[in-house]
Amino acid sequence: MAAGILRASRRMGSAGVDFRVLCIALRPSQVFRAPLNGAWWSLATTANMATVKGELLQHISSEEPVLHSKVSIIGTGSVGMTCAISIIAKGLVDELALVDSDEEKMKGETMDLQHGTVFMNMPKIVCSKDFLVTANSKVVVITAGARQAKDETRLNLVQRNVAIFKVMIADIVKHSPRCKIIIVTNPVDILTYVAWKLSGFPENRVIGSGCNLDTARFRYMLGQKLGIHAESCNGWVLGEHGDSSVPIWSGVNIAGMPLKDVNSAIGTNSDPEQWGDIHKDVISSAYRIIKLKGYTSWAIGLSVADITESILKNLRKTHPVSTKIKGLYGIEEDVFLSMPCILGESGISDIIKVKLNTVEEAQIRKSANTLWEIQKDIKF
Ligand code: NAD
Repeated sequence: MAAGILRASRRMGSAGVDFRVLCIALRPSQVFRAPLNGAWWSLATTANMATVKGELLQHISSEEPVLHSKVSIIGTGSVGMTCAISIIAKGLVDELALVDSDEEKMKGETMDLQHGTVFMNMPKIVCSKDFLVTANSKVVVITAGARQAKDETRLNLVQRNVAIFKVMIADIVKHSPRCKIIIVTNPVDILTYVAWKLSGFPENRVIGSGCNLDTARFRYMLGQKLGIHAESCNGWVLGEHGDSSVPIWSGVNIAGMPLKDVNSAIGTNSDPEQWGDIHKDVISSAYRIIKLKGYTSWAIGLSVADITESILKNLRKTHPVSTKIKGLYGIEEDVFLSMPCILGESGISDIIKVKLNTVEEAQIRKSANTLWEIQKDIKF
């Protein structure tokens, strides 16, 4: 049972029996079924009896459904589960597969979610430790990985995650060779590079959630200061996710009206209104939330669902996600940083070449150098 696929379903037997079963599968050819309720003998006794289901339904087809929008989430921790509920709430998928090495937690989360079916148009939800359950995914979201230990260097954390990613990425590629992979696990920009290297996928199909969350926080806080809904506050935070992210003040606008035209010092130290504090709050808010509740989850889950929607629906919307930025802004190494990217069914189809001022460009290059200093020592 350890590596089985937890899949609650109803199957009709040849005699019209309701085989309500738990399918525990290692390979499709090795499906093991056990009745959910009652013992095996109860099947024998009901096999010749009319059942309510048999009387109620005229069975027409046992054809396996063709999946069009399957998404898999690797890691059923705080972030993985908010990604799951956010993706379900948007009605994006026809099957959701969950994978985690902690089997008990994974099964508990899956059952808990399945029981909400009455209240939402839930897709089929399956889970397993075995990546076979992810087969034929359109999108695979990775939230699993090692947590930073006290006093552990960033390189050491990355190296531990490389070992985990080696196994995960090989399995994902094997079962969904045409999927798009979204990396959420931190340090997200470096691990997006790692996933790209390990997968052998073209760069358009390996996407880091990057500054999608940082930008959402930035727009929310702009909105709070102005009394305008975040969706109407346009601005981008680019570069490295987290502490070294770069707010692009030159592009911040409301209804096409650049705030820089109203306050030429906006975002700088000489700004009497100190709008630059918003970006400082963006950075510190992650630490503050973790101090208050132990982890961040809701906004990242919602932001991953937004990215997933653009891919599955081929929306061609722009998102600040982490992508290979080599060749732009004088960067010559294989580093992944966030730029506005057009997302559609092929993943990232285009990068918007944002015009940065000299300070912003220097900040982006500094991040690229810092990341490469770590990446160059990674042992694959
Ligand atoms: P968590 O510890 O709650 O969950 C991680 C899950 O991964 C656990 O359930 C664990 O069992 C599983 N796991 C570990 N190794 C595994 C393996 N080899 N195979 C399968 N599953 C494995 O952590 P969380 O709070 O959910 O955060 C997940 C990640 O998301 C962290 O790296 C966190 O820093 C990151 N994060 C990123 C952003 C972003 O904007 N990119 C925002 C928030 C959190």
